[in-house]
Amino acid sequence: ALIGLGGALGGAMGCILLLLQRKGVTMKARLSNALKKGVLELEYQPIVNLHTGAVVGAEALLRWTENNEVISPDVFIPVAEEADIVQQVTLYVIDRLLLEMAGFLQSHPDFRLNVNISANDLCDPGFGAKIAARLEAASVLPTQLALEITERSSANASEAIEAIRSLRSRGHSIYIDDFGTGYSSLSYLGQLNVDGIKIDKSFTQKVGTDAIGVSIAPQIVDMARAHDLAIVVEGIETERQREYFANLKMEINAQGWLFGKPVSASKIADLFSARGGSVRSATR
Ligand code: C2E
Ligand code: MG
Ligand code: MG
Ligand code: MG
Repeated sequence: ALIGLGGALGGAMGCILLLLQRKGVTMKARLSNALKKGVLELEYQPIVNLHTGAVVGAEALLRWTENNEVISPDVFIPVAEEADIVQQVTLYVIDRLLLEMAGFLQSHPDFRLNVNISANDLCDPGFGAKIAARLEAASVLPTQLALEITERSSANASEAIEAIRSLRSRGHSIYIDDFGTGYSSLSYLGQLNVDGIKIDKSFTQKVGTDAIGVSIAPQIVDMARAHDLAIVVEGIETERQREYFANLKMEINAQGWLFGKPVSASKIADLFSARGGSVRSATR
């Protein structure tokens, strides 16, 4: 009877594993299909000068809604990575943002768009050329397209370092995204040749609530300053958080609901026309 029970349990476990796998397969197939049909959409979240509130650019964020269900990129991007179709996603995003924003980018050369890329993209030696061909066809400067790489994906592999060097030589700025959440960031920062870091919102949102979170943020800022890196603070929701980073006395850019949630292409263009470059209070 014991063996029978074990067998049944084993069978149940196998079944659960199979279900999990099928869910992954299904999600992959649905995602591939959505990409083919072109139903994934982009939103653009303003990136502002923390001190003046001026809009300096935006981050493109992918949106997938299916049968009224919103599927978060935090869910489907890992599926795409696992299924090896994330480069398809990246190129989809670049094609789409050029379709929506090329005209605006051409007439506003000081506006910059940030795109999230994946570690897998860095493994493809042809990646930079693929972006370059698209930008050229759309008459958009590579300096107007910054690339964000999550820290987890940019650990010290020499391949990644070389890919980053090559993308920078083409004119792209490279940012380490979600900085502080991955590998022992502070120690390898000096070796990474990037333009800037984005401080993860988990640090931002601890400001004023958690002594440890408060104490590490200035350390990251100091470190970035020492290495001459630009800083974007993510996830600023309150005036108190804004003030805290403003008091660190360094040129800092920021993103967060206090300044603006992700919006459509036409809305981000309007927002830039209204608040771009001009010095204006960050609080509204
Ligand atoms: P991320 O690149 O760190 O993007 C910032 C995320 O924080 C976005 O979530 C944004 O909507 C959210 N956010 C911004 N301001 C605030 C705030 O003040 N408070 C809070 N609570 N959240 C804020 P989203 O759009 O759900 O994206 C999640 C992650 O999915 C992104 O994190 C990025 O890693 C990934 N992702 C999104 N779009 C793409 C894409 O096109 N390609 C790739 N490879 N990854 C993407
Ligand atoms: Mg990002
Ligand atoms: Mg981030
Ligand atoms: Mg993130």
